Amino acid sequence: MQIIGNGRLITRDAAQPFFENGAVVMDGKVIKEVGDFTAMKTKYPEAELIDARGGVIMPAFINAHEHIYSAMARGLSVNGYDPKGFLDILDGMWWTLDRHLTLEQTRQSAMATYIDSIKNGVTTVFDHHASYGAITGSLFAIEDAARELGVRTCLCYEVSDRDGEEKMKAGVYENEAFIRHALADDSDMIAAMFGLHAQFTLSDQTLELCAQHKPDGVGYHIHVAEGIEDLHDCLRKYGKRIVNRLMDMNILGPKTLTAHCIYVNPQEMELLKATDTMVVHNPESNMGNACGCPPTMEIFRKGILTGLGTDGYTHDMLESMKVANVLHKHNSCNPNEAWAEVPAILFDGNAKIAGRYFKSPLGVLKTGAAADVIVTDYNPLTPMDASNINGHILFGMTGRHVVTTVCNGKVLMKDRELLVVDEEKALADCRQEAAKLWKSING
Ligand SMILES: [Zn+2]
Repeated sequence: MQIIGNGRLITRDAAQPFFENGAVVMDGKVIKEVGDFTAMKTKYPEAELIDARGGVIMPAFINAHEHIYSAMARGLSVNGYDPKGFLDILDGMWWTLDRHLTLEQTRQSAMATYIDSIKNGVTTVFDHHASYGAITGSLFAIEDAARELGVRTCLCYEVSDRDGEEKMKAGVYENEAFIRHALADDSDMIAAMFGLHAQFTLSDQTLELCAQHKPDGVGYHIHVAEGIEDLHDCLRKYGKRIVNRLMDMNILGPKTLTAHCIYVNPQEMELLKATDTMVVHNPESNMGNACGCPPTMEIFRKGILTGLGTDGYTHDMLESMKVANVLHKHNSCNPNEAWAEVPAILFDGNAKIAGRYFKSPLGVLKTGAAADVIVTDYNPLTPMDASNINGHILFGMTGRHVVTTVCNGKVLMKDRELLVVDEEKALADCRQEAAKLWKSING
């Protein structure tokens, strides 16, 4: 038994959202009780204390859309890369990079991404992977890293026609093999989806093959209308809009996650809602790629389950939250926009999305929920209570404030020190592989 206490406690449990001096009692992988620190200490005197030292205790973050394969792009300059639009960014940077990844480089990219996630208090990662240089076994290589570091993850391989039929099929088989593996695993640490790149690189025949090979019980994870080019392609080739095509191909549903949804209209939103399909917003990536501002507030207000991701741009969910907050105010010229919606998307939306793939409740601190807990060293300079928690988080915290990260009852980081890996060595190994990768890209 362990007890994390001696700090302000944010539970995300509506029944008791905030304790001025709270504690979370963990029994193995599960939360046994949440309450006042003194009362919990008295009730569980034998429990080992993890001292929050007056910081803020809260549920660990969930990242609903991530790209492990992008880790080694940090600082990379690709010869001749000079993008004029979104398709140039994909082909010139991301597809160029993933075509050169070896299995070892995929594993190292996963180590680096999960390490940074732990340091930002993220313990559940929904990844969308591509490594056209080495497809078979890539999801298993990522799983190895996740298991070594003790994080929860939901993986998929992004199938695409972009590198020909043989590689498309290898992607299909990688998804199928990993999904069967994840469905047979009862640790509740690994989950899987069927990954699709985006409709503009997927023919009807390919989508039919994917459907034939998708085991029951999981949905798809796909980029939707991230660029205007994707919409134009769909209208030109199929005479319909993207969500309509996905509907006709039987891709939508409560287990399917659609990333971005920038160029979707109200009629498409109705289809997402009617099929209970999930949407993930990645504000910083959309801005950085100059893709446009998605109608995320409208999507959310329609009652579509909406979450927040980082798309590999950062691993800090609070950075993503801050950018979402200013993006929608800026875009709508409305200073009242996004106050309630963005926290709801990050905290409630991501918890519900995780709930569709993991058995234990995540993103909440209450009896029976997973023991995924973080401590930040944030010390408020103004009064803090249940009514203004999100204002304190938005304006006062970044991922760098996270000092302690616990996942599945295991302490992964304590006082900024990683306990599950030699961080220096892991990053040195990653740099070494990244240097090899860059050389293979630029010759
Ligand atoms: Zn993405």
